[in-house]
Amino acid sequence: MEYRHFIGNAWKAGDNRESLDVIDPSTGEPFAAIARGNAADIATAVNAARNAMGDALDGPWAKLSPVERANLLFAYAAAVLNNADELAQLEARDTGKALKTARTDAAVLARYLQYYAGCVDKLHGETLPYTTGFTVLTVREPIGVTGHIIPWNYPMQIYGRSVGASLAAGNACVVKPAEDASLSILRLAEIAADIGFPAGAINVVTGLGSEAGAALSANEGVGHISFTGSTATGALVGRTAAERHCPSVLELGGKSPQLVFDDADLDEALPVIQNAIVQNAGQTCSAGSRLLVQRGVYETVIERLAQRFEALRAGPSAMDLDLGPLVNAKQHARVRGIVEQAEAEGIRVAARGKIVVEASRNGFFQEAVLFRDVPPQSRLAQEEVFGPVLAMMPFDDEAEAVKLANGTNYGLVAGVWTRDGSRGLRLARKLQAGQVFINNYGAGGGVELPFGGVKASGHGREKGFEALYGFTSLKTIAIRHG
Ligand code: NAP
Ligand code: MG
Repeated sequence: MEYRHFIGNAWKAGDNRESLDVIDPSTGEPFAAIARGNAADIATAVNAARNAMGDALDGPWAKLSPVERANLLFAYAAAVLNNADELAQLEARDTGKALKTARTDAAVLARYLQYYAGCVDKLHGETLPYTTGFTVLTVREPIGVTGHIIPWNYPMQIYGRSVGASLAAGNACVVKPAEDASLSILRLAEIAADIGFPAGAINVVTGLGSEAGAALSANEGVGHISFTGSTATGALVGRTAAERHCPSVLELGGKSPQLVFDDADLDEALPVIQNAIVQNAGQTCSAGSRLLVQRGVYETVIERLAQRFEALRAGPSAMDLDLGPLVNAKQHARVRGIVEQAEAEGIRVAARGKIVVEASRNGFFQEAVLFRDVPPQSRLAQEEVFGPVLAMMPFDDEAEAVKLANGTNYGLVAGVWTRDGSRGLRLARKLQAGQVFINNYGAGGGVELPFGGVKASGHGREKGFEALYGFTSLKTIAIRHG
């Protein structure tokens, strides 16, 4: 199967006619090809999106009333649910994620679309008190054309939270999916066309980040860029956008800590802690990748988690085990390299899971690894691994826990496990993170909850109403009537 771009509700051959292999991470074998988009393809897509908006918000997409827009988004959510199995199969094969994870992703995508559909006719401005003789009001207008650079770890979910919110705000979208995860996104654009989205409301250009992605962030016709990915690429995208005064939302991953106190309910905590690093083979921006445990329960937690980690199995996505393969050869080599370096530095492995015998030797498999007594300044404690690798370290008291937790460049999510309610709240205020969970931990999901980072985890907020505001331009209208 050779896929083209999807622009203006039609499959379009690329400007250069070049293609890229689509690799199945479970086997390392190509099974399809996508178009290798360039700046000309991006320009075509941006034009299609501009036409959907029209010069005076009179294009076929922009002129829809809020209710009509909402109804289309509700229909989109229903169509995603109707096609959830196909979408999940496609995404599992393309990215290697276990089928159950891909099924959840399709369901969460539908939830995003429903949530934002429900927001469309509630997105209103205010009237503001001002000097006598004036009436002042604000209106939230669409920005125009928005660009969406989607990574490969949760393509459907991130499409939902970013494109869903932007469409709800009335914008037309140009999407550049990751080269390793384009198939579900292409199919989603096709589904939107089938259910009646006007041509140009949603456009997808596939290709490499350094080509199509860079061209999208540089295109003058794009009024907002939303990016999820690495800190380094995020800085590049943000800089390119800033040069032409285009706002950007950057969601850049993390090294998120979970803090377990002596009084925590371990029966509740441990399954959640395990899932937060194993889900999607650890390729989750909000993965709980550091585990800080108070000294009184440190050995108990290690013992109990080690049993769990040893039982974890990695295998082909179709086997639907605890973990699928990592997304590509580069990530596989990177994660293996970090694990090997940690072992060479003498950091102790407390437990490791297994790769099943059925797994192809050419697949990108990485077993789950639990490291203990990880030095806080080591690479393993500081860098985002983006694999099923958990770094544990002990602490004595609250002050040390906060210092360790805040002691990386990142600040995306944090978790606190304690039966002491005051302590939970006290820590929530001290932790540097965009989201803090007390006695739970929410990797993914939670479409209603604003999400985003501080420090190197990025800026701007996605999810919830906050995201919707970000995709609008606020205009103040001051009327002097005497
Ligand atoms: P990456 O380079 O940041 O890629 C993320 C997205 O940006 C992909 O869609 C990519 O497209 C695109 N891209 C790459 N270079 C670009 C450029 N110059 N201009 C515009 N877009 C560009 O990440 P990666 O190399 O795939 O993974 C490296 C590390 O990034 C991971 O180990 C992980 O730590 C982090 N990461 C974080 C997240 C997250 O959810 N926060 C997601 C993915 C990766 P192509 O893939 O087609 O090149
Ligand atoms: Mg692939």
